[in-house]
Amino acid sequence: MICLGCSCLCDDIECEIGEEIKVGNACLRGFRRIDSINENRLTPRVERKEENIDDTIKSAAKLLEEAKNPIIFGPENSTLETEKEAIELAKKAGAIIDNMSSFGYSGYLVEKIFRKEVNTCTLDETRDDCDVSIYWGCDPMSSHPRMMSRYSYYPRGKNRQRGWEQDRDAISIDVRRSLTAEICDKFIKVPPGRDFELMKAFKDVLSGKIPKFGDKKSIMKIGNLIKKAEFGVLFTGLGLNYSINHIDDFIDLVKDTGFRLQPIIEGIGLNKLLFDETGHVNKINYKDKSYGIENNFVEALKGDIDTALIIGSDVASNIPLKLAKRLREINCIYVGPHSNLTSHISKVNIPTAVCGIESAGKAYRMDLKEEDLEKIVDSNFLPDQEILKRIGDAL
Ligand code: SF4
Repeated sequence: MICLGCSCLCDDIECEIGEEIKVGNACLRGFRRIDSINENRLTPRVERKEENIDDTIKSAAKLLEEAKNPIIFGPENSTLETEKEAIELAKKAGAIIDNMSSFGYSGYLVEKIFRKEVNTCTLDETRDDCDVSIYWGCDPMSSHPRMMSRYSYYPRGKNRQRGWEQDRDAISIDVRRSLTAEICDKFIKVPPGRDFELMKAFKDVLSGKIPKFGDKKSIMKIGNLIKKAEFGVLFTGLGLNYSINHIDDFIDLVKDTGFRLQPIIEGIGLNKLLFDETGHVNKINYKDKSYGIENNFVEALKGDIDTALIIGSDVASNIPLKLAKRLREINCIYVGPHSNLTSHISKVNIPTAVCGIESAGKAYRMDLKEEDLEKIVDSNFLPDQEILKRIGDAL
């Protein structure tokens, strides 16, 4: 089976779900997703009172119908079919649609890649050819635990037969010594918010100058390694995105190095569908077909949003407490398989099947490789795409 625990979508997972749950090949995160499938399941509720599923769907539709300024957020780990339904629902409800990619600059970088303004590559090309990988502001060993072992560092690739010992170099750039930094050959600790100065230092080395920032000797060594790379890949994450104000300078640096850019991102399927339709990957308001920062989930929540439909994302755990309280005050509907803080503060809870285990569909890996997800076990829960469709039909 394919694991939907993160956007690596590992396709070699062995899984048996019976009285006992047996899982092979998955990382701990993937194992927990399967092993804990029956824990903490969401129950259908309206205003904390248990209801049947039809009534929760009707209540959700009513809230969206009465909303003046609704927003739809997510889904994160779901299928392309669900992402399509989320967009259709946003159109019907005249809602903003956004996802986690608008926190920081992940979405911005993905949009540049879709526009072909920055080079990228597939994870399979990374495995076969990459000789230098950089992890800037990301910690895949924690967030995407098998990415380095399957693609970017440890495996023997078609043209990298000697593997990490001789054929590959890995560099971590982060504000702290992360798990990824622990296994990389080189690590640069960059003080929070000072990535821009480090970028300038690398630009200096690339143009043959002495850098003026940080540990000049190691920056020069890494700069020279970057210069010599035959097939370099730069992975980024929220750490970089939160601390760089000069994101276009960062893109210029990536172009100067000749590296391929791979943002480590969840929910890229929604980004692609929105891009194909609107030319933007997130922050779309279907009320007036506008695109802009005011449609970012956090900004919208600070504004006059009165209803939020959250699909499979525990967004309340990822925003400041003040905004989580605001989410509790408005009409919040949560659609997802398990209870979490977001479901707890929502007025309507609609449980769903767990995608890729209890329901099938298609999904994109982080590099847009399309995978078919199988249904492994039967369940009484409806797939999330069906829930969204039924809300849309009831509008
Ligand atoms: S790396 Fe991601 S996709 Fe692969 S097994 Fe772990 S959680 Fe699942």
